[in-house]
Amino acid sequence: MIRTQLEEVQERIRKACQRSGRSPEDVTLIAVSKTKPVSMIREAMEAGQTVFGENKVQELCAKYEELPKDLSWHMIGHLQRNKVKYIADKAALIHSVDSLRLAETIEQEGARHNRVIPVLIEVNVAQEESKFGVSLEETLPLIEEIAGLPHVKIRGLMTIAPFVENPEENRPVFAALRQLSVDIKGKNMNNVDMDILSMGMTNDYEVAVEEGATMVRVGTGIFGARDYSAENR
Ligand SMILES: *Cc1c(COP(=O)(O)O)cnc(C)c1O
Repeated sequence: MIRTQLEEVQERIRKACQRSGRSPEDVTLIAVSKTKPVSMIREAMEAGQTVFGENKVQELCAKYEELPKDLSWHMIGHLQRNKVKYIADKAALIHSVDSLRLAETIEQEGARHNRVIPVLIEVNVAQEESKFGVSLEETLPLIEEIAGLPHVKIRGLMTIAPFVENPEENRPVFAALRQLSVDIKGKNMNNVDMDILSMGMTNDYEVAVEEGATMVRVGTGIFGARDYSAENR
């Protein structure tokens, strides 16, 4: 069941790559396993999936401990500074850096673990009030500040696009993030790479790939709908 879903998503990514003249190897599928049990992650693992995304520190840590160490765990959700210490040695990539203070905490924890921690800057392209992330205009100034931190490595940008009925509506959002990343890359800043563009979820990942996503974060499309009732959070 999960294998079939995974293969379906991979096939759609391949086709989106074909349509836009890109290579499927340039797109990493992150299986967003938040709220889902370890048994389902094992199923995805057996189908060859190795990269997983979680949005809660506690859940990421619990699954990290329980599952084989050759998996990669991406922190994709809003991150509180007091929780950075729990994932500093576990997260392969933190997608959700949106303030200098958070980056400074990551710097401290990186130094403590003698590790340079890879991060993305979360950009709220559509300026939705309900979402975290900096505006398009704030992104470069923030990157200039974070670039001075030796244990934090900026690898690119991330966005969570609005929830829309028709994924085409998000095309301009993805195109704007991609353009920003091209502009920043052109500045050739020290300690800043712009090789990762994390954009696209179950509803809109094909459009995101067509617009240049190098990481897509797909949960529902692989594991099915999430149950947020009661304590199953
Ligand atoms: C939950 C989540 C996803 C996956 O959402 P789906 O619509 O289930 O694919 C992707 N990115 C972030 C940041 C999320 O929190």
